Amino acid sequence: MTTNSIDSKRHRTSRLIEEWFLATGRDLPWRTALPHSTGCSPWGIMVSEFMLQQTPVSRVLPVWEIWMTRWPTPAALAAEPSSEAVRAWGRLGYPRRAQRLHAAAVAIVEQHDGEVPGTREELQALPGVGVYTSAAIAAFAFGRRESVVDTNIRRVHARLFSGKALPSPSFTAAEARLAEELLPEDRAESVTWNAAVMELGALVCTARSPKCQECPVATECAWLAAGSPEPEYVPKGQSWHGTDRQVRGAVMAVLREAGSPVPRELFLAPPADWETGTANLSWSGSEGALGRLDALHRLKAAPEQLERCLGGLLKDGLANESDAGLSL
Ligand code: SF4
Repeated sequence: MTTNSIDSKRHRTSRLIEEWFLATGRDLPWRTALPHSTGCSPWGIMVSEFMLQQTPVSRVLPVWEIWMTRWPTPAALAAEPSSEAVRAWGRLGYPRRAQRLHAAAVAIVEQHDGEVPGTREELQALPGVGVYTSAAIAAFAFGRRESVVDTNIRRVHARLFSGKALPSPSFTAAEARLAEELLPEDRAESVTWNAAVMELGALVCTARSPKCQECPVATECAWLAAGSPEPEYVPKGQSWHGTDRQVRGAVMAVLREAGSPVPRELFLAPPADWETGTANLSWSGSEGALGRLDALHRLKAAPEQLERCLGGLLKDGLANESDAGLSL
């Protein structure tokens, strides 16, 4: 597609997508691009961007609300140990994000007087903030004209403009160029465009079953016009059952609930009489923590896998070990 044809198509599609977004977009508390939005602090937007990396909105929303009540500013979070951030991360997954967010809060306090910085360069210097997250915070928190390209936006661009079922497995320079060409010149419009395309990808142009009948730009869609060709590759499924990720998550759930260090051996094998509930434990865990320990052992992970996962969590600094056992 030439720049001119992209430009005219963008003008047509942007009006349609933005109208759809203004009428249908979810009024999320961290969203500032809708006219009736009540506003959100840059810190609230930053927290949401960390949480939304690899976790859907429905799971993020309740945790985000608890976080913002407890830690409404970077200084509030920085004043507590990072283990509290990991505990409050709950079941969002990938808990290293909580550690990095805490480290970013500390850096904001130390280097930016407690205020989230507004440029991509400053943002990318913070722990855990990469290319995508810095662009998203700069655009949505500070209204800057930034090309924000997440998985949803990449998929919409691939279908709508390139006629492909899926974008390339990894982000290409051609995609970056296309995203830049599609971005409206006007700053406010560019913020709305980013939010609107992201929302279209999340709600309508979904990965597995795009709802083309409901799509505001179906008449413009290159993939639909080409007869909806199959993807050029089979995307790798995100396996979960039996993986180290699942076992690490189950171990972290025990540690979050435990009020005291949990002896290492309790992770490696269920104690005698565990099944009958009459086990004589050397540890007085809360009912919640015992329930999580039971859930871990129901996974029936091999001892080598349990050892590997404990070692990994210790190495990543997500767990600590003392003579008494493991804790956050
Ligand atoms: Fe996506 Fe279908 Fe809309 Fe094309 S018509 S942008 S494939 S939802």
